[in-house]
Amino acid sequence: MEAFWIGCFMLIGLIAGSFFTLVGQRVPQSMSIITPRSHCDMCSIQLSWYELLPIVSYACQKGRCRHCGDTISSILPLTEIGTSLLFGLAIAIFGFQWDTAVALLLIALLHMVSVADVYYMKIPNNILLVSGGLLMVIHILHPETSWSASMIGAGVGFGVLFFIMLVSRGGMGVGDVKLFLVIGFVAGWKETLLILFLASLLGALFGIIFRLAGRLKRGEAIPFAPFISGATILILFWGDTMMKWLVAGS
Ligand SMILES: [Zn+2]
Repeated sequence: MEAFWIGCFMLIGLIAGSFFTLVGQRVPQSMSIITPRSHCDMCSIQLSWYELLPIVSYACQKGRCRHCGDTISSILPLTEIGTSLLFGLAIAIFGFQWDTAVALLLIALLHMVSVADVYYMKIPNNILLVSGGLLMVIHILHPETSWSASMIGAGVGFGVLFFIMLVSRGGMGVGDVKLFLVIGFVAGWKETLLILFLASLLGALFGIIFRLAGRLKRGEAIPFAPFISGATILILFWGDTMMKWLVAGS
């Protein structure tokens, strides 16, 4: 893939990433994603266009509001850079194919639900429905995998997570179960189980680190969506390689 196109997709990812964070912050509060215009959380002043440029504004203002001097959450630039890199990676790996459309949609979905889960411990149905619906439309337009494989994936994703939810009694939210239904539909059942395994591993690892660092109290729940997202992204881009390792190692 030409560097020009990768650059274009990274730029789109930067702007889109900023929007996905906004959606993830507003939808769980039942707020419109159009109005009111973005404002400073501290002094509530409405921000001008030059204060909303992804990365650039944050860097120029040294991470502070121009009006009240309050610090702006570093989550904003980090998620923008993350989505930018992932958009670039998607076009670099898959090229101009349907797989790229699926990858971009999945990145968008995972970005939005991760933000919503971190801020509000919620995975909004609206985000799942719109993203899931669009992924289904792509599947109808271009059936890369058979419908039966997608349905089995969705069934396994939903079934296994639903079982864990019942057994864990609150350790797993109903939002995680619904998210895995969508992931299973796209990824297939084997990859879905691998994603669940990786996500649990990442969640446990970060849980221990946060506990040791004193950022997490005993019995306090941590949002699971960011770990599901991390694992799904790993499998989306490098799942084939990982599957080969597993098969070779068994
Ligand atoms: Zn302010």
